[in-house]
Amino acid sequence: MRKKLVAGNWKMHGSLQENSTLLNALVKGIPELESDPSCAVCVPYPYLASVQSELQNTNIKLGAQNVSQHEKGAYTGEVSASMLKDFNCTYVIVGHSERRMLFGESSQVVAEKYVAAQKAGLVPILCVGETLEQRDSDVTERVINDQLSAVITLAGVNSLENAIVAYEPVWAIGTGKTATPQQAQEIHHFIRQGIAAQNEKLAAGMTILYGGSVKASNAAELFAMSDIDGGLIGGASLIADDFIAICKAI
Ligand code: 13P
Repeated sequence: MRKKLVAGNWKMHGSLQENSTLLNALVKGIPELESDPSCAVCVPYPYLASVQSELQNTNIKLGAQNVSQHEKGAYTGEVSASMLKDFNCTYVIVGHSERRMLFGESSQVVAEKYVAAQKAGLVPILCVGETLEQRDSDVTERVINDQLSAVITLAGVNSLENAIVAYEPVWAIGTGKTATPQQAQEIHHFIRQGIAAQNEKLAAGMTILYGGSVKASNAAELFAMSDIDGGLIGGASLIADDFIAICKAI
């Protein structure tokens, strides 16, 4: 059985007050969820401490949305993997398309972040996905292959044993335009097959999340697909009832 996960990516949203209201509702709504399937929230850095304390003794895990590729040093404004570990983070998102596109993170830098995260004992959630333009020009598989290859070249395929891959088609993020379950399944299968060519057992056990306009209304049909092991949820993770429903859909 593959590990299932629903992770919320809060992006740059929230306040101490809003977070508290949201988390109270989540803790009540996801009371006795077993540790598998898991549920997690990836929050902005300044809230790690307060969210950590609010999630104590709950089954909801904590994650961050980015990490420095460097261990320590003169990198003003950056946050290291060991700092995230200090706040008991389990997960960290690396290579989100917003980081790649708005902040110029190359696949090489993303791979370095992935390595830094694992070195500190965090589980990286590695995001891959194509833009609409790339899909329309039929290069989706090549794009995803390149994004995965950068990590495999640097860290080795076996590193994926302690990682999660998230397929997030850029055209589906925050647009309300979800990939159909078939479209998502097709790429998830492609990802798993590619890894299987290098390590079949690992590929069979690898958790692959779908992200991009997952809502309470479409989560169940996406999660029903054989290669979709959960979701990475943006907008809907900020609405307690929606996020609870998505966590329960798995
Ligand atoms: P939305 O669910 O808002 O489309 O965002 C998806 C996402 O980017 C999660 O990382």
